[in-house]
Amino acid sequence: MLRTKQIFTLGPATDKPGVLAGLLHTGMDCARFNFSHGSHQEHARRCKLLKSEVLKAGKSVSAMLDLSGPKLRVGRLRHGQVELIPSTEVRLTAKPLMGTDEVIPIRYPRLGADVQPGDRILLDDGLLKLKVLRVIKQEVFCRVETGGLLKDNKGVNLPGIAVGLPALTAKDRVDLKFGLKLGMDYVALSFVRRPEELIKLRKLVRRMGSTAGIIAKIEKPQAIPRLAEIIQAADGVMIARGDLGVEMSPEQVPTLQKRIIFLANQSGCLVITATQMLQSMMQKPTPTRAEASDVANAIFDGTDAVMLSGETAAGLYPRQSAAMMARIIKEAEASPEYNRLTSHTLFNSSEDVVVAAGVKLAEKAEVRALVIFTNSGHTAKLAARQRPRVPVIALAHAPHICRQLQLYWGIQSIVINNQPHIEAVVQEAEKCLLRNRMLRRGEKIVVLASSPVKSRANFLKLHVIGT
Ligand code: PGA
Ligand code: MN
Repeated sequence: MLRTKQIFTLGPATDKPGVLAGLLHTGMDCARFNFSHGSHQEHARRCKLLKSEVLKAGKSVSAMLDLSGPKLRVGRLRHGQVELIPSTEVRLTAKPLMGTDEVIPIRYPRLGADVQPGDRILLDDGLLKLKVLRVIKQEVFCRVETGGLLKDNKGVNLPGIAVGLPALTAKDRVDLKFGLKLGMDYVALSFVRRPEELIKLRKLVRRMGSTAGIIAKIEKPQAIPRLAEIIQAADGVMIARGDLGVEMSPEQVPTLQKRIIFLANQSGCLVITATQMLQSMMQKPTPTRAEASDVANAIFDGTDAVMLSGETAAGLYPRQSAAMMARIIKEAEASPEYNRLTSHTLFNSSEDVVVAAGVKLAEKAEVRALVIFTNSGHTAKLAARQRPRVPVIALAHAPHICRQLQLYWGIQSIVINNQPHIEAVVQEAEKCLLRNRMLRRGEKIVVLASSPVKSRANFLKLHVIGT
């Protein structure tokens, strides 16, 4: 069982027969629905397929709704694309006209107001670069610095410019409502700038009747000075290295990754490392050595989860990418280098001490598993943060809690019948683990629970299965 969690993005490539089942088999813990692409119909169909495949596989797998957020995009272009020639001039406009090699529509009404001569405008993940020469009547005249082919709908980044768009756009609100109805377990918000945006999103999600966890995608420079507050306000953060490397610069990504992981680990916030992890596998069945190292190094940095985007959603080798990810995780986790890493134990409450005692006992007694009976998932999250060296099995009676917990480092979650008191909890845990063939008679476990059931963790038992 792998401890680092795997998020795979669904897309056209996972619609092909057998692919999704293959991803589940290699250990998918969370399926990401990227609402920057695809229609509602497509997402609904994929979600249905996911549910039926997950049922067949008999596992807990969470679903993540990824909202586009305030991302600027190129409008429509004649023949779907234009060639930008270096050193020539192009005009950008907010008017929704058909683009040509002279004028390019950008879907952002404040474009002319927000940029100034000298500013840089990046297109298509920074592959194409423009420099603003002058702004006349809201039309932005630029010189092409790095040219190339520009396609419809590509992303636009204005590094260092405060974009005047709300954190949740009108499209996001519609997508949110739709996605939550499908039963998403996590909602990720793109281009987070302030913690207030997450607080607002959480309120909205709760008002819509969902218990989904909130993930802040870190891809804006404005978010960096407010990281600690953002981590406080979110259930998880995603190091969205694609846009982060454009909004800031590629050389800043490695150190930001380490800083974000460290801060998140310290406060028990979920952290996901994302984008271009096995990028070359979009076209090839094997990754570059640098990519294999990158995945392993995110794990050594202490990430809870690693993510694949285009590799699984639209690449030629979705299954091979997922299998390669799992193999890199397995190798990294088995190394002495990984096992030297220290855990982040914060003793804020007596509950933390009980959980730490459970983890220590499980490790010292070399038990087969630390079994946590959890109502809200809270105790299991506290345990995950301590990076136990023994397998952790979380038992909860609510399926949505199990699905959410499945994304936390080291946790395998199983749905269990609700029990009235602690002896029944231990008995039920034992029955369930034997039935799932996760453990055998005579094997030792540590049970961590609370008594009465809905209180905070206060119960610890070294238990031999079947006695
Ligand atoms: P995206 O986010 O794939 O939705 O753009 C991730 C990133 O920017 O790295
Ligand atoms: Mn992004």
